[in-house]
Amino acid sequence: MTALIELKSVEKHYGDYHALRGIDLEIRAGEFFSLLGPSGCGKTTLLRTIAGLEEVSSGTIRIDGRDMKGVAANHRPTNMVFQSYAVFPHLSVAENVGFGLRRDPRSKVEKARAVEQALEMVGLGGYGKRRAHALSGGQRQRVALARALILEPKVLLLDEPLSALDRLMREQMQLELMRLQRQVGITFILVTHDQEEALVMSDRIAVMFDGQIGQLADPETLYRKPANRRVAQFIGKMNFLPGRMLDQRGAIEVAGLGRAELAPEQALPAGGEITVGLRPETLAILFDGDTAPRRETRGTVAEVVYYGDMTYYEVRVDGIDRPLTVSMKNLIGRPVLEVGATTRLAWDERALVLLTA
Ligand code: ATP
Repeated sequence: MTALIELKSVEKHYGDYHALRGIDLEIRAGEFFSLLGPSGCGKTTLLRTIAGLEEVSSGTIRIDGRDMKGVAANHRPTNMVFQSYAVFPHLSVAENVGFGLRRDPRSKVEKARAVEQALEMVGLGGYGKRRAHALSGGQRQRVALARALILEPKVLLLDEPLSALDRLMREQMQLELMRLQRQVGITFILVTHDQEEALVMSDRIAVMFDGQIGQLADPETLYRKPANRRVAQFIGKMNFLPGRMLDQRGAIEVAGLGRAELAPEQALPAGGEITVGLRPETLAILFDGDTAPRRETRGTVAEVVYYGDMTYYEVRVDGIDRPLTVSMKNLIGRPVLEVGATTRLAWDERALVLLTA
């Protein structure tokens, strides 16, 4: 697939501060792409350089084959939706959505039809006459979306559009945004610091740290094969254990767990000291009647965090400094263990992730 947006060696300095450090990136037409990273990593800056709201210090940005150097924001095939609902409170919903069509040569009737269509797209059909100030946060964000979509941009840039919404509304809007993106087929670039949001919504994610891209991959690859410890820590929960490569064929020794033989694709080319990552859901507390696990060890429950559908246990295992985090579904008939209980713990060498740093 050809790239719709191409960034090459993009750098951004704010005085002495180096906000973007050599960003190379290709975003495909029609994809839902997310820029994910902790506060201050440069994701908003990157989005704003694509929008033309911020000039790059060096490097190039091409959209649809065209160099964007010197092209003003309003002449780019992009449109931005901000975190703060940028709607005009004194205008009606329809006036807000139609705002960008002021200079559009179409007739009033045609424009009204386009406005209604855009409102229907975001689930606000029939809301045109309402005053914007009387809308809820979620509805205002939909109005802002409709206003951006009516201009038919090639790329929609979304800067933390859902962060001001409560959790239920945010989850609902995530699904709606995904549906909308598939329906209109426009390229969406989302900035978020919420890893779950990025995993749920994106075709691909660029994880950023300190003005650089740490890893760019689809959600499953990011979760299962994080490139390094920093990415692993940022995406989901992970236990880190010290380990040692015993040979070049994939035999390793993991502290507290023992020796394991890895598949070739799991092993690292370099030998010696390594860090081994284990997701909490790949470990399991064994209860009577459970089938024999591939591998097992013993531990003592040090902490129990009950979430209703899940319980997170901290389990102490001999030979490891920190307890292992283990997540368990709360199935019917399965007790929740108490602190101090000794338990058998199942693990699986296929779930080990080898990390260099
Ligand atoms: P957040 O989620 O907190 O918005 P972010 O990853 O989007 O974080 P940016 O807003 O891109 O981060 O900012 C990256 C860095 O650049 C920050 O340290 C910020 O202080 C700095 N920065 C951003 N804009 C400017 C500016 N106009 N002048 C000076 N420094 C800036």
